[in-house]
Amino acid sequence: MTDQVAPKNPAVPSLESRKAKPKGEVLLSVKELEAVFETGDGVVHAVDGISFDVHRGEIFAIVGESGSGKSVSAMTVMGLLPTIKIRSGEILWKGTNLLDLDENAMRKIRGREISMIFQDPLTALNPVHTVGRQVAEMARIHEDISKKDAMKRAIETLDLVGIPEPQKRADMHPHEYSGGMRQRAMIAMAIMCKPDLLIADEPTTALDVTVQAQVLDVLVDIKDEIDSGIILITHDLGVVAGLADQMMVMYAGNQVEFGTVDDIFYETAHPYTEGLLNSIPDLVGDHSKPLVPIKGSPPSLINRPSGCAFHPRCTYARVPGVCADTEPKLRDEGNGHLSACHFTSVDWKPQ
Ligand code: SF4
Repeated sequence: MTDQVAPKNPAVPSLESRKAKPKGEVLLSVKELEAVFETGDGVVHAVDGISFDVHRGEIFAIVGESGSGKSVSAMTVMGLLPTIKIRSGEILWKGTNLLDLDENAMRKIRGREISMIFQDPLTALNPVHTVGRQVAEMARIHEDISKKDAMKRAIETLDLVGIPEPQKRADMHPHEYSGGMRQRAMIAMAIMCKPDLLIADEPTTALDVTVQAQVLDVLVDIKDEIDSGIILITHDLGVVAGLADQMMVMYAGNQVEFGTVDDIFYETAHPYTEGLLNSIPDLVGDHSKPLVPIKGSPPSLINRPSGCAFHPRCTYARVPGVCADTEPKLRDEGNGHLSACHFTSVDWKPQ
């Protein structure tokens, strides 16, 4: 194999102005979580030994292509996947293992302490009821609050997320809202009880770029306003670059890279992450640079490739008996920047 220089991907604007923020308390600590679905076709290895912490005040991004396990990881934290089987690991919420709680106890945490913003507001909002009623209902479920007070707070919350004329719009139905306003209404529902953690699953996928930016701004403002943490699930590295503090890249249910956004964008340590970065426009350098998609498709989670699951698609998988045969473990590149590749980030040579 020839020497390879670690890519310094300039796909995002300089992040030098980003100040190293002191971390808040650990809210969520996922440890060695392994979860599968047992299907008629075989065992789907949806989440394979992932670990991460989310702190108060930070935006933690989970990134990967469709089927990489990012949404399943979040839904598992929320206890929203009744058919998933947890094989091992812990999901510690403020020190309590959520996997030990029954559905009743989980329901008290869901919505009140941990809230989820889904990617498709049209299916998440009830078309029959007014938006105001649905937002108010979130407080009614979790708090001892009158209908009148809940509606008053719903209108204040709609105002907080930037819905114009919230008093009037609270009486409207979801179909009378634009796409961006529906997503804001979803955010309003999620923050009604001022949760400590918001999980936003592709919150802007269906929106045009301008509205997308506005909705993301709302999310950041809300995080500061209610002093929460956010898990941002996305396939869009452009979104992550502008917003997140820490990030985890997932591939085939595995955690393949983990670190600060600056580490991962500027000291990319895993070839899959490099592939993702090469497939988005270069925002600061050569705008005419052709985008290079990652060849092939994500693998089946029932029959994952041997060794490194990325090896059939990896440009650097050239050493016989290494990539296709041995599964790489997460290795610290320094300062907690982890990569699951047999090659170092410096020269991409075998260890
Ligand atoms: Fe590519 Fe091999 Fe590294 Fe896997 S272990 S990412 S196949 S170089």
